[in-house]
Amino acid sequence: MSSYLFTNGRVLDPRGEGPRDGMEVLVEGAVIREVSDRPIRSDVATRIDLGGRVLMPGLIDAHVHVVAAMANLAANALQPSSLAAFRAAEVMRGMLMRGFTTVRDLAGADRGLADAQALGLITGSRLIICGKALSQTGGHSDGRARSDDRAPLESRVGVMGRLVDGVDAVRRAAREELRAGADFIKVMANGGVASPTDPIHMLQFSRDELRAAVEEAENSGTYVAAHLYTDEAIRRAVECGVVSLEHCNLIRPETARLAAERGCYAVPTLITYEKLASEGARWGLGPDSVAKIETVRRGGMESLAIMREAGLEMAYGSDLLGEMHCYQSEEFALRARVLPGIEVLRSATTFAAKVCGLEGRAGVIEPGADADLLVVEDNPLKDWSVLENQGARMPVIMQAGRFVKMQLS
Ligand SMILES: [Zn+2]
Repeated sequence: MSSYLFTNGRVLDPRGEGPRDGMEVLVEGAVIREVSDRPIRSDVATRIDLGGRVLMPGLIDAHVHVVAAMANLAANALQPSSLAAFRAAEVMRGMLMRGFTTVRDLAGADRGLADAQALGLITGSRLIICGKALSQTGGHSDGRARSDDRAPLESRVGVMGRLVDGVDAVRRAAREELRAGADFIKVMANGGVASPTDPIHMLQFSRDELRAAVEEAENSGTYVAAHLYTDEAIRRAVECGVVSLEHCNLIRPETARLAAERGCYAVPTLITYEKLASEGARWGLGPDSVAKIETVRRGGMESLAIMREAGLEMAYGSDLLGEMHCYQSEEFALRARVLPGIEVLRSATTFAAKVCGLEGRAGVIEPGADADLLVVEDNPLKDWSVLENQGARMPVIMQAGRFVKMQLS
């Protein structure tokens, strides 16, 4: 069993307020064995001198799409499944090399990709998955143009959602995704940007359909996450029992308070609207979609303040597509314009771990937790750029006790 002792650094546990000097961390096998403010004795561990750098937990992104290797989702869906899987593996590798040791996929990734990572067949972020997202006909997963009356593609790896209509069909689809290994269920409950025929204000699925998805998820001991922008759509989803509220750009205070009371949380994804606005068209986003970006982008920053004020907890999400995945770490600085830095860090560590069902196992530096660790050149709370630029200032990335990057001598 490999064993490593990290010394002479500053340890940033997000449960505290900032990095602490003089701490040592012992890793044995895949887990953190000991954390101490006194020298740790070990005869077998390899010592790693951090030279004053910051040791922190691996990051967690709670809203990604690893199968969206191309922003042109229609082309992405048409790829052979084998090619889409290899491309997804490449996207997962990119995320890991930015320091995201775990990601929650919100449409498309299947048990095969998650298992391939867990078995060590591919190097990438650990995956928490929902399988295919459920969408109504004409909803956010219906990528067909108005004049296209062909049957939708469903089973290929590059396809992110499946179309289901009616309570029984929703139940069946939820059961099929759970049977195939989904960790939770995703529904499209509001209009979206990347889909061609649904305006942002559109409510998607009936209340009965949403309740059916929630009941099926709860029967399996899990929850529903929903794609949502408008205040009306968010309120309806909360009333129907949805727990994980994705995006929430246009939420109002009263709904945010209701959501907080009901134990829901939000996953804002602001960076994707910034990048869709500046680069989307270049990467093949259609004109119908480009026209919808501004509606949701404008509300984004204000929504952060509203949710914080209401006590609605937020997890880190990026939601980037295709060629724009490289901006995954820029959500930190964007949020820190409005929110306290330590809360932004917690959204991508301790709180995101809770959302992923990994509380105490990921996002913390404590004995018994998975050894998912990063070394960065400086305190990210003072300079978010240490997390940016594809890990350029992140000399060490450890996942489950294994170095996937090690540039300290
Ligand atoms: Zn998304």
